[in-house]
Amino acid sequence: MLIDTHTHLLSEEFDNDRDEVIKRAKDKGVEKFIEVGYDEKYSTKLVDFVEYNDDFFGAIGIHPHNAIEFTNTTLKNFEKLIKSQKIIAIGEIGLDYYRDLSPRDTQEKIFRQQIELSQSLEMPIIIHCREAKDNLKKILKEYQNLTGIIHSFSGTLQDAYFYIERGFLLGISGVVTYKNSLALKNVVKEIDMQNIVFETDCPYLPPTPYRGKRNEPSYLNFTKEEVVKLKEIDSEIVDKITAENINRIFKIFNK
Ligand SMILES: [Zn+2]
Repeated sequence: MLIDTHTHLLSEEFDNDRDEVIKRAKDKGVEKFIEVGYDEKYSTKLVDFVEYNDDFFGAIGIHPHNAIEFTNTTLKNFEKLIKSQKIIAIGEIGLDYYRDLSPRDTQEKIFRQQIELSQSLEMPIIIHCREAKDNLKKILKEYQNLTGIIHSFSGTLQDAYFYIERGFLLGISGVVTYKNSLALKNVVKEIDMQNIVFETDCPYLPPTPYRGKRNEPSYLNFTKEEVVKLKEIDSEIVDKITAENINRIFKIFNK
């Protein structure tokens, strides 16, 4: 069984063929999905969706791009939404100094508030980080007992071990299939399979050979096959270990 740990299938890019996209994924062995929110409206909408779709779980959160929209009402709303059994994480949350769509001090403040929310609920977090890893590491060091996924991990082997030691899985996206992703390929080779999960981030980040197109969960296999090749291990073992990794943190097989 393959699990796509990061989808945005409620995006308008899928409005015309969402059911077919999900069916295509299942035909390719992608059986479960974590649908990830990025603003309040999307997070609210996804709770209904995952409630009515057995194979879907949800993460709700405010993306660093949208940090300026986060208010006390958002927090109150999230506290209500989290009561759904199908909401299993806070995300995606973090820092994005590449696009800087919200001021950096606001990004940090809202990131911290959401970390603290996750801690009060003992929930994992899904972290988005772009060009902000020094500050991310500084913040993570201040909190105990964190767990979750580093979304679309890219970084050095040292970065990888930093996150792993703090209880995080590395989300490996289609980026690993790109010819020039040599550093990422090397990290994947070096680290233990126990630390890896797969994600599409659809509709974004399509793997080779779909670069430039809309990404969808049925393409998750291209990412997995690249990891199978890099680590020279059996494809079924990869399926089994990644499913165990996800369940260790998100307990999705008991829900
Ligand atoms: Zn995302």
